[in-house]
Amino acid sequence: MLWKRLAARFDELRLRPWPVKTGEAFGEFWSLLFPTECVVCEQPDSSLCTDCTETFRRMTVRPFRAEESADGLPASEVSGSRPRADGSDFVPLPVIASGRYAKSLAAVLLAYKNHGHTDLVRWLQAALAGALHEANASLCVHAADVVLVPVPGKGASFRRRGYDPLALLLGGLARRRELPAGAVVVPAVRHARTPAASAIFDIAKSGQKGLGRRGRRSNVAWSMEPAPAYQRVLRGRACLIVDDVLTTGSTIAETARVLRGLDATVAGAVVIAATPAPRGRRERETEDPTG
Ligand SMILES: [Zn+2]
Repeated sequence: MLWKRLAARFDELRLRPWPVKTGEAFGEFWSLLFPTECVVCEQPDSSLCTDCTETFRRMTVRPFRAEESADGLPASEVSGSRPRADGSDFVPLPVIASGRYAKSLAAVLLAYKNHGHTDLVRWLQAALAGALHEANASLCVHAADVVLVPVPGKGASFRRRGYDPLALLLGGLARRRELPAGAVVVPAVRHARTPAASAIFDIAKSGQKGLGRRGRRSNVAWSMEPAPAYQRVLRGRACLIVDDVLTTGSTIAETARVLRGLDATVAGAVVIAATPAPRGRRERETEDPTG
């Protein structure tokens, strides 16, 4: 009987020392009212079970360079970046990823972004923090006080979800001082609001799903603009662009275009998950066209 279990839980709550057990008890209490299951393996009781937590941790514990998997990235402006493996002299912007976009990490990201699982935020924050520290150490060696610029979320997505996934991730890390020392989060880029630009973008967006990689990339071009409040803050500053998933790199390219227009130095980008190289990529599953 549910009410008996609830009554027993109330008694337990009453008897437990406050506030040591409160968080834990509330979690159990919550799961009685709203039964939950692991977003990866569907085992009941928690949003991420012990086994999947361990898999998630293993998948994200070693951040790595991911720019080779994306062919829509802008050119690097930092010396020492790696040339492309195909022998061309184009050097893509370096990208550090926490993990590869595969089972556990993909499931956690989708549940967090699209299904309201904000209770998974701590796991994703831990993964993102690892990549941010790695990027700060390896890409911003000579830069003091790196600026972290999130790829802007769309207003419509925010209204639908009630939260901005990237802002929630970065905000928590900033509050708990888990960002690299001296790093600040500056939402310096936003989606273009001028009628002409947004009209073009709407036309482009309506055809987004049916397009291949290159088509999508050109659709994102010129869709963003500087956020007015930060226009002068970024001059001469070293920036890292932050996004959740790297697919083609086109949104990172568009964000970099705006930042370079503000005379900022884009040292690289940081993502939580990088999708595999084009061959074998399952685009429809990995790309969220609504942002
Ligand atoms: Zn599980």
